[in-house]
Amino acid sequence: MTRKFRSSDLSATRRGATLPRMDAETSSSRSISTHLRGALNTCRGAWAHAARLALDIALPTLCVACREPVAGEGVCATCWAKLSFIAQPYCPRLGIPFVYDPGPGLLSMEAIADPPAYARARAAVRYDDVARTLVHALKYQDRTDLAPAMGRWMARAGRELLGEADALVPVPLHWRRGWSRRYNQSGALARIIERQSGVKVTTEALRRVRPTQQQIGLSRSQRASNVQGAFKVEASRQSEIQGRRVILIDDVLTSGATVDACARALLRAKAASVDVLVFARVVDTHKAPI
Ligand SMILES: [Zn+2]
Repeated sequence: MTRKFRSSDLSATRRGATLPRMDAETSSSRSISTHLRGALNTCRGAWAHAARLALDIALPTLCVACREPVAGEGVCATCWAKLSFIAQPYCPRLGIPFVYDPGPGLLSMEAIADPPAYARARAAVRYDDVARTLVHALKYQDRTDLAPAMGRWMARAGRELLGEADALVPVPLHWRRGWSRRYNQSGALARIIERQSGVKVTTEALRRVRPTQQQIGLSRSQRASNVQGAFKVEASRQSEIQGRRVILIDDVLTSGATVDACARALLRAKAASVDVLVFARVVDTHKAPI
């Protein structure tokens, strides 16, 4: 979909360049203007289509991880094979993969020692090299074309949670960061999951009421205090949360401090339950899972 961006960029340029001239030429007659405008719209559609076809041939998409040409979307077969999709058996609470199946209902040490505010977390993949490349491209390089594949993998990983949910809530950015980055990557993923599952996205209820430092490089306790009190459900929006089974959507789960702070805010607004669905989660491979 790098292609899609390029073709839409081109058609936007074309639109900007052509419309004013047409308006000037046909300003004398309203009916002729309307007629021409219709014809122009048709041409524009055909032109955009032709441009897209031409670009499909001229510019192969590159794998986002290794930059090799790729047919289709996102990552090439080699990089796809390197993604570690998380499957059963895993901790029913935290979604941390187990190395062997301990039997139904057994929780991970982490879930017992430090239970989070949210009920369950699920992730599509482990946060390793290829996953990190995908997350960074979506977050910082405007590669919104990656969201459909990533969102579909998330919808599959979260099928059990989505079957019981009433609302999807993307982890919000502070408005200042949203402004500079233009869009919220968690919101983009939530929109894809909405399309896959039919569970509606609620974007306005949960707010980041103060900017927070980047969590990168902070210790576990620093992460928790960094996001404490950072999220809030506005009283006027409480009806969108109260009594509802909510799934928080984020790109990466590291210490879980951010989603935990969000879950607390949603539970204060009387959400019936809060689960978490992320694209990638950090899995500590040094610690035995149980
Ligand atoms: Zn690749």
